[in-house]
Amino acid sequence: MGKEKKGIRLEHIGKIYQDPKTKKDFYAVKDTSLDIEPGSFVTLLGPSGCGKTTTLRMIAGFESPDEGEIYLGGEPINGLTPNKRDTAMVFQSYALLPHYNVFDNVAYGLKLRKLDKGTIEKKVTDILKLVGLEGRESRMTNQLSGGQQQRVALARALVLEPGVLLFDEPLSNLDAKLRVSMRTEIRRIQQEAGITAVYVTHDQSEAMAISDKIIIMNKGVVEQMGTPQEIYYRPKNEFVADFIGEANFLHGKLLRRQGADGIIEINGNEIEVKEIGDTEPGTDCTLLLRPEGATLADAGELPCEVTLSCFMGSYQNYHVLVGDTLVKITDFNPKNKKVYAVGDKAFVAFAPESGYLI
Ligand code: ATP
Repeated sequence: MGKEKKGIRLEHIGKIYQDPKTKKDFYAVKDTSLDIEPGSFVTLLGPSGCGKTTTLRMIAGFESPDEGEIYLGGEPINGLTPNKRDTAMVFQSYALLPHYNVFDNVAYGLKLRKLDKGTIEKKVTDILKLVGLEGRESRMTNQLSGGQQQRVALARALVLEPGVLLFDEPLSNLDAKLRVSMRTEIRRIQQEAGITAVYVTHDQSEAMAISDKIIIMNKGVVEQMGTPQEIYYRPKNEFVADFIGEANFLHGKLLRRQGADGIIEINGNEIEVKEIGDTEPGTDCTLLLRPEGATLADAGELPCEVTLSCFMGSYQNYHVLVGDTLVKITDFNPKNKKVYAVGDKAFVAFAPESGYLI
């Protein structure tokens, strides 16, 4: 759309609310610093109440931070009202004008800006094409499906050519199948429009599928920001590992270093691990093992006993006990493998690259 893409920077942002029950002040967002690159798609993800929406609303200007400064394209924006910021928000509720047709809903913001009729017509037509609503200009919005209404909401935000597009759980009101196709559409449109996007969701698969970077929040603070792969394979702590995908945590001790790698002891077994960072020998540590990163075998890294064995079609789902730790394993393509039954003694087998020390 030929407009400058804008980055967003949050510097030590804090937002304090009062708990309505206890009347005590608390930080809904605390000392949060973030750098969002121009043109990137970034998702705020975390459990209910972690401060995602509050962060988004502060970027939009619907809430003002009590501490810190927000920058848009390098300019401080704390003092600007929402309509003076170069942002547009797409809401969960769509917030469409019910007695207007599709064209007029999308044109509304441009009319307020007093653009001439020809320009409005061209911009609206172009945007409706981009979101796949060509030919539906004269439909009333209450005659549209949920997915189509969300496209109108998206078109209405995009037509203003904001530097940044903000999404507050935009797909929550759609059924599961439509959510999946709409998220792909949103990603395509964001890339075609070449716009910076910040997206709030509590759906981890949505975040993984759509984002350049994911920001994991917990209790008002950012736990980690990284690409979906970084967050999944190299989580900073157990909270992040557990929040994204399924995780097994095996507790042990680092015995010795071997260059960048090392040997840890778990239940008396020596296990090779890659990239141990600056962990010192003798320290207690936790090995993250994703269920699909391990298999069951007659020989392997850790002896175990099978407590659950379920055929799931594309994989065999196992629960095993390693000592008294429950480990979940998804063993893919079980047709060509030995299948273990409940009560069997076996080994959890995995390559050193499959484990990650946290
Ligand atoms: P959800 O996924 O449930 O929407 P969230 O991560 O978006 O959660 P926020 O809406 O940002 O969370 O809320 C963060 C915390 O601040 C919560 O404890 C919430 O109850 C509280 N909170 C939000 N708005 C207000 C307000 N206006 N007054 C008091 N407390 C608030």
